[in-house]
Parts: sequence; structure tokens; C-alpha cells
Amino acid sequence: MNKVILDKPDMPYRVIQEQLIPKFSIGQTVYRACVRYIKGNAKCPHCSGTNILHGITNNGREFQADCKFCRSYKAKAAPVEEIVSKILITKHYIEYSVNTGVYYREGELFATKAEAMPRSKELAKGINNRNIT
Ligand SMILES: [Zn+2]
Repeated sequence: MNKVILDKPDMPYRVIQEQLIPKFSIGQTVYRACVRYIKGNAKCPHCSGTNILHGITNNGREFQADCKFCRSYKAKAAPVEEIVSKILITKHYIEYSVNTGVYYREGELFATKAEAMPRSKELAKGINNRNIT
């Protein structure tokens, strides 16, 4: 993560302020490390391979749940294109909100699809290993 050191020599004492600099900007297209649940060439038909099921409760509330049908599918690295809509900078980390409204840490987002691949493969491997045991 990039950091800039702001040196303020005009202060009575030397203040060095560290500030995190965001890697991406608002409106920029980024790629999120992600997986899709696939068997052969077919995505899980219940959730389109996203592992997220959208539902409505009996009293009309919308909810999301993990897709249980994905268990018989394999996780495959599949970075997802997102557009940065908001940036949250704290003293210790930076988070980006994307078009879906979800916030992600900088380590989950990449400038290109190719750059997002290794982390996506890592996620897929972790999921597939977990499903075997
Ligand atoms: Zn599914």
C-alpha cells in the first residue's frame, strides 16, 4: 500500500504525518478477486454460480443466503468487474465501495483481470479444499 509522508518543517516541533493514498479512484473499473461455482461448463443454476441466493421471507423482507446447491460444484477463479463508487480512508486501511454498495479492502481489488487471478485462484483452492473435508 502506498504511503506519503507529509513533513511539516514550519511547525514548532517536527510533525511527520503518514497518510494512506488510495490505489484506485472513484469511477475506476477494478477487478475483485472472486470465484464462480461451476461443473464442466455449467454454472450452478440456482445462483448463477455466485453462491448467493436472493429470497423473500413470508412477511416480504428481502434476504440473501449462501447457496447450498453449490456444494456439488467446484469453485473456479473468476474475477468480477466492479466500479469504484466510494472510498473510505481510515488511519490504518482503505476500503472501496463498488456499484453493489459493498465495501472491499484494497487487497481484494485489482487494476486488471489478470492481476486479480492469483488471489481468485487462492480463494477457489481454499473453498475446494474445504468442501472435500
Ligand atoms: Zn449455487
